[in-house]
Amino acid sequence: MLKAKDKSVKALTGGVEYLFKKNKVDYVKGAASFASPTSIDVALLEGGSTQLQTKNVLIATGSEVTPFPGIEIDEKQIVSSTGALDLQQVPEKLVVIGAGVIGLELGSVWARLGAKVEVVEFLGAIGGAGMDGEVSKNFQKILAKQGLKFNLNTKVLGAEKKDGKVHIAVEGAKDGKKSTIEADVVLVAIGRRPYTEGLNLDKIGVEVDNRGRIVIDSQFNTSVPNVKCIGDVTFGPMLAHKAEDEGIAAVEYFKTGFGHVNYGVIPSVVYTHPEVAWVGKTEEDCKAEGIEYKVGNFPMVANSRAKTNADADGFVKVLAEKNTDRILGAHIIGAVAGESIAELALALEYGASAEDVARTVHAHPTVSEAVKEAALMASSGKAINA
Ligand SMILES: Cc1cc2nc3c(=O)[nH]c(=O)nc-3n(C[C@H](O)[C@H](O)[C@H](O)COP(=O)(O)OP(=O)(O)OC[C@H]3O[C@@H](n4cnc5c(N)ncnc54)[C@H](O)[C@@H]3O)c2cc1C
Repeated sequence: MLKAKDKSVKALTGGVEYLFKKNKVDYVKGAASFASPTSIDVALLEGGSTQLQTKNVLIATGSEVTPFPGIEIDEKQIVSSTGALDLQQVPEKLVVIGAGVIGLELGSVWARLGAKVEVVEFLGAIGGAGMDGEVSKNFQKILAKQGLKFNLNTKVLGAEKKDGKVHIAVEGAKDGKKSTIEADVVLVAIGRRPYTEGLNLDKIGVEVDNRGRIVIDSQFNTSVPNVKCIGDVTFGPMLAHKAEDEGIAAVEYFKTGFGHVNYGVIPSVVYTHPEVAWVGKTEEDCKAEGIEYKVGNFPMVANSRAKTNADADGFVKVLAEKNTDRILGAHIIGAVAGESIAELALALEYGASAEDVARTVHAHPTVSEAVKEAALMASSGKAINA
């Protein structure tokens, strides 16, 4: 499995290098730092250095693992996502600190491979801030059915390596009760933070906020003229497709003066089994913003394809504005939720009503029919097969 993973990584990163060549992009391998807004020093990977002169700069230096104060990551027994993707054997017991997307994805992988997995989360729900509350609760039940154990409202105090194990000290966030959890491997997955080390931002005066994010305006401009910034190192969700679309828009701004990313329509996917995917507003968002909304909820167990595949955990939930029927958000738990969400992202992008999706003919038997049914339920209050 690890060999297959390495092969995929190599093929995909190799693909990017090929595209550089094909599109005549010079690839200078090394660590960059600003000498001035228009000249970049590069310490070359192969040794030596060079300086590049440029009119425009696009910063896209990404993010790094947020360290847990007092817990040292060795990438063997106490791992970040990097080490968790490279464990050479299935740990008997894996403790995951943080029930965000990365912690759940990797925890669920190792659980499916036979590890006992226990997740410790400070908050009272899994999936991170962007996940719809109803989805989060159902997702937790599904993962618990698969054997993952959850300690929510629980604070990790520290971790100590002793006798081949890691002892994790925890405290109930509500009752203050202290206890210890033992693990063979601990995955620290409490988030990621912007990465700007060595860039020399101070030297040219690029503004950074109190969370280390490079400050930009709506046209990706930093505080320094001709220096733009995109991706994980600035605001917004840390997602590859968000960084990619920002990259395109930022370059369009450089070239033409116009560019656009619709931040209201950025899909999120959790690659567990089943997958969880969403786009647009959650029910909690609608309530907080005082929007009157309708809900269409269709269970996968009533979808013929999901049922036939014996893979029918989850549901599709469509939120539409009460008076206009315009789709506000969509949330899916299902085996192919990451694929199914694309249709609803497109619907949202085009300002579709739930009825628009419900009246679009969907092939039978496909999981996408569950999307149509949920839209029908949202728009008319009734689905065909439920
Ligand atoms: C375990 C894991 C799983 C993830 N899964 C998903 C997923 O399923 N879907 C999704 O959308 N996103 C996922 N992400 C997030 C995704 O990887 C990031 O959002 C995305 O890579 C951000 O792109 P970026 O261009 O901003 O930064 P990056 O892709 O991190 O690229 C930044 C690059 O800049 C280089 N760099 C940094 N500083 C310098 C310097 N001074 N000089 C030269 N080079 C420098 C770095 O080496 C790096 O290659 C995942 C992240 C992790 C860690």
